[in-house]
Amino acid sequence: MSIKFDEDFTMTIDGKAVPVGATFDVLNPATEEVVGKAPDCTKEQLDAAIASARKAFPKWAATPIEERKKALLAMAGVLAANAEGLKRLLTSEQGKTLDGAAGDVLGGAHWLSSTATLDIPEHVNEDSAERKSITRHVPLGVVGAIAPWNFPIILAAFKLGPALLAGNTVVLKPSPFTPLTTLKFGELLRGVLPPGVVNIVSGGDSLGPWMTSHKGFDKISFTGSSATGRKVMESASASLKRVTLELGGNDPAIVLPDIDVEKTAQQLFWAAFGNSGQICIATKRMYIHKDVYEPLKAALVEVAKTIKVGDGSEQGTQLGPINNKLQFQRVVSLIQDAKDKGYKFLTGGLPENQKGYFIPVTILDNPPEDSRIVQEEQFGPVLPLIKFDDISDVIDRANNTEYGLGASVWSADSDKALEIAKQIQAGNVWVNESQHLSPLAGFAGHKQSGVGVENGLEGLLEYTNTQTITVKKAAPAAT
Ligand code: NAD
Repeated sequence: MSIKFDEDFTMTIDGKAVPVGATFDVLNPATEEVVGKAPDCTKEQLDAAIASARKAFPKWAATPIEERKKALLAMAGVLAANAEGLKRLLTSEQGKTLDGAAGDVLGGAHWLSSTATLDIPEHVNEDSAERKSITRHVPLGVVGAIAPWNFPIILAAFKLGPALLAGNTVVLKPSPFTPLTTLKFGELLRGVLPPGVVNIVSGGDSLGPWMTSHKGFDKISFTGSSATGRKVMESASASLKRVTLELGGNDPAIVLPDIDVEKTAQQLFWAAFGNSGQICIATKRMYIHKDVYEPLKAALVEVAKTIKVGDGSEQGTQLGPINNKLQFQRVVSLIQDAKDKGYKFLTGGLPENQKGYFIPVTILDNPPEDSRIVQEEQFGPVLPLIKFDDISDVIDRANNTEYGLGASVWSADSDKALEIAKQIQAGNVWVNESQHLSPLAGFAGHKQSGVGVENGLEGLLEYTNTQTITVKKAAPAAT
């Protein structure tokens, strides 16, 4: 698909384009120029989207699951067939490289088609002479899906796939920083899905709270920061909506002294700096054993020196800008704090005064454990390396956080690493790799990194209500 960037981007409600009223500008973070204008959803339009989803729900819920699986495959096909155009649009609004954008679009397709291989189980609890009892899972109704700006398509697919497979209908809201690719996806789905099954709305800061407080939703599935997640849970509680919250993280990597420095440095670098650090499960603090600290530090700096930071649409760029000004200022404030405190910079530092939200690859040499850069989620290309010499102490430090999203352990002895992995308080712990996720494996944040699960059977069942039906076999005799 070729996408004209100056064309109208429209919301999809009831399978149709909504006439565009008020709009807001979407900026290219590499140039700070306007890429496109997104519709600013009104309260009435949100009501209409929910009403359409509500109307579509009974028929969709009654549609055989095999047909719903075909619909997921068709959605995956739409993403795959239009990946070229969508990736260019995504790079222009998100900032990531074209390859990274293709990964998001095609990853979304993979997620949808893999989710279509799942089935919803029914469990027989009792089948005796007296009674039969089964537990089954029925759809919830209308799901409000709220996505962040770092991986707009794949993280939307995390929600759309299981919600639709389970028989729910959806109103999806992308981030105001990256709404355009999702709006296009909605446009491409018109005619592919029955009207109302997926509605896509875009808006500014009011739209999310309108959704979470709206009585028309049965569930809110949210991915974003822990701070917003708390607000979502509070607001959703008024009507006791179900919530799934995938939130922030401050993932530790623990590197043992027996690693092969040369081989591991590249992997460790990308674990922290992929997507310019804007990954919920990026390595955000790297604990390195003292025996290997100096050589690994040097190897990481060597990798950093080879990295081209630039406009994601340009050939050769490996890391794009930060997606938006707010996040840029947040990362800059962490770098400024490290500077003010006199921590040692191995590479990078404050950005130059230039167009675009670019931050150089920044590595800090052993800042104190209680520094902001170690304690807070940076969500940008800034990594503290921290020296350790005692395993139980480093496990305590890794766990000493309100977050519990991901972690990794690196060692030539994978059994030893596994023993450490089991002691980490996080929903996803990797040994000798990082960030591998599967549509078929549960993904959950512990502590303040989330509530509930996405992906896999457990994630699918979060889009259902549990129902136990008990049938007494011998009918009461007439008297
Ligand atoms: P954010 O919380 O600012 O926004 C996420 C979404 O929520 C956006 O669509 C936004 O418009 C909406 N929103 C904002 N305020 C709202 C409110 N009061 N009520 C309802 N919706 C509201 O997050 P972000 O800056 O877009 O994303 C970065 C954060 O997301 C990081 O903390 C990152 O770790 C986290 N994240 C987590 C996962 C995960 O799976 N655990 C994945 C990606 C990103």
